[in-house]
Amino acid sequence: MFIENFKVESPNVKYSETEIQSVYNYETTELVHENRNGAYQWIIKPKSVKYEFKTNTHVPKLGVMLVGWGGNNGSTLTGGVIANREGISWATKDKIQQANYFGSLTQASAIRVGSYQGEEIYAPFKSLLPMVNPDDIVFGGWDISNMNLADAMGRAKVFDIDLQKQLRPYMESMVPLPGIYDPDFIAANQEERANNVIKGTKKEQVQQVIKDIKEFKAATKVDKVVVLWTANTERYSNLVVGLNDTTENLLAALDRNEAEISPSTLFAIACVTENVPFINGSPQNTFVPGLIDFAIQKNCLIGGDDFKSGQTKMKSVLVDFLVGAGIKPTSIVSYNHLGNNDGMNLSAPQTFRSKEISKSNVVDDMVNSNAILYEPGEHPDHVVVIKYVPYVADSKRAMDEYTSEIFMGGKNTIVLHNTCEDSLLAAPIILDLVLLAELSTRIQFKAEKEGKFHSFHPVATIFSYLTKAPLVPPGTPVVNALSKQRAMLENIMRACVGLAPENNMILEYK
Ligand code: NAD
Repeated sequence: MFIENFKVESPNVKYSETEIQSVYNYETTELVHENRNGAYQWIIKPKSVKYEFKTNTHVPKLGVMLVGWGGNNGSTLTGGVIANREGISWATKDKIQQANYFGSLTQASAIRVGSYQGEEIYAPFKSLLPMVNPDDIVFGGWDISNMNLADAMGRAKVFDIDLQKQLRPYMESMVPLPGIYDPDFIAANQEERANNVIKGTKKEQVQQVIKDIKEFKAATKVDKVVVLWTANTERYSNLVVGLNDTTENLLAALDRNEAEISPSTLFAIACVTENVPFINGSPQNTFVPGLIDFAIQKNCLIGGDDFKSGQTKMKSVLVDFLVGAGIKPTSIVSYNHLGNNDGMNLSAPQTFRSKEISKSNVVDDMVNSNAILYEPGEHPDHVVVIKYVPYVADSKRAMDEYTSEIFMGGKNTIVLHNTCEDSLLAAPIILDLVLLAELSTRIQFKAEKEGKFHSFHPVATIFSYLTKAPLVPPGTPVVNALSKQRAMLENIMRACVGLAPENNMILEYK
């Protein structure tokens, strides 16, 4: 059975006009490695830590500014939200299709809240805490191409033509602000697109972006802005001591107009300066150490990297399943071909390298979790290939071969072939990222020994479910396994309303 919404009644939860307050006992463990009776032994001590959470329930009017607004993802997301907001339906060769938010964790997935008269009861994920309704988001942003969003949607070739015709009137007047173009960071094949660029030094470019954000906020009367990079993948920036290793050095390098500061890092500097959350949906290392340091100093939310949309999402499910089942993946080979502008940009070796890195580390936590299968330092062979094939446009093909060792030296090979419009996978993920980024700025918490409430660490890990290479604060473990990432997010949101984590024990029926 499905219920639309609910309220928690418990001595641990208080709903006021402006807040939900909860007290939550975090059941965890403490590990010690001690000499007991002449031999070292691991001792695991269960412990309970009391946390308090406060969630501001005022849902703001949200503005979302996309860097790369006129790209396939940007135009698909903008059109998709307008179609939902306006209740648009369109004729396909199969049926009359209604707009929906399928593929969005917050908008189209459910959580189990308990059982009632022998039936499992589910509720929308978004009913856990008050969240912005995506229909109400005001979009804006930048692009190095000045094409309006209606034409950009046509260029993307993602939506059915009947839908495009209906969306055009809403999107024709949407024109991206000039972007920051630096041919050193993206593929040379992007040059002819770059007709809409901010001139001046890097510092002047940052100042222009800050001005753009302020003007957008004033013109649209939104309460809050979130900025998300869905522009082209850049090459990695070189990490140089004295240049981008600390906040001071990064800002001084900006003053000196140093060449090695990428456009994405410039956008991020602008956002952190203004305390506007910034999310990176592409694989490059926008978040150089000096920028992470800057975000921590300003307590400004940053998150990334690289949307986890198709092949990598499957990988973080399949390898988790195999290793969790005691099966040893020994070779993972992934081929992709795609024909959109992202594919064209990735055909240059330096930008491909960024993607290769972000796709490669995704099985590490699962492999490291099982020393019965893997010797220390042992890894499956893992190869990623991406080719540009214009004809298939946004309809990306991903082919994966997983070979594993099974019982008694046997081998098992699984082959997957995935065909899907890339931007239809990415758009709902972008939506979740901005909605969750906004929500997490309204949550405060403290552990029992902490005097004051504080926000989550500015390097946001709570939406790691949505990113291929989750950015984590220094010294924090990276979790890639999809089910763990989803459980983490769901369980933190449950804690905010005083609900225990979903433990799937269903003891009531045992
Ligand atoms: P796209 O090429 O269609 O769109 C990118 C847009 O960014 C273009 O319109 C381009 O003109 C603009 N741009 C480039 N540099 C800019 C700059 N410095 N400032 C402002 N605008 C700039 O690509 P896409 O398919 O929309 O993908 C966007 C990004 O998302 C890519 O980096 C891609 O790797 C990443 N990504 C996509 C998916 C997916 O499933 N679609 C998954 C993971 C990551």
